[in-house]
Amino acid sequence: MQERFAADRNLGKLVKWLRILGYDTLSERGDADRDFLRRAAEDGRIVLTRNRDLARRVQPASLVFVAADRVETQLGEVLNALNIAPDPARRMSRCLHCNVPLDAVTKAAVEGLVPAYVSGTQPRFRRCPCCGKIFWPGTHPRRAEEYLRTRVPALRSPLS
Ligand SMILES: [Zn+2]
Repeated sequence: MQERFAADRNLGKLVKWLRILGYDTLSERGDADRDFLRRAAEDGRIVLTRNRDLARRVQPASLVFVAADRVETQLGEVLNALNIAPDPARRMSRCLHCNVPLDAVTKAAVEGLVPAYVSGTQPRFRRCPCCGKIFWPGTHPRRAEEYLRTRVPALRSPLS
């Protein structure tokens, strides 16, 4: 089963990137506290935190302490710590804002909702059932892919 995460409020950019990669990732509004840890544990989520004290108190198997400041390095830290590689097929399958899986929608369904040049060139669309935002392969993945490949060490090697 794919890993699921719960991140503290200091890791907003990392949350977005994990969702781009397809990971179910909750963002905690406050600092990581006892309640947050309990909910994450009940939910089977791995806690991501910048709180070093918290990291000392929790079993390493269910928590990753994120030390880096830059998001691409943070992403590398998490993937390396857990020894996981994202499944390329899952990329862009989840809303960046709502963290819910996107629905596949037809080109006809998005007619008038996306720019004409987009509906003319893109074959596949996905829509968030929660916020209604429409995503397509060109939304940002090309730059995202390049960014990930060049900046995140864990993604440089071919996925096994
Ligand atoms: Zn959404």
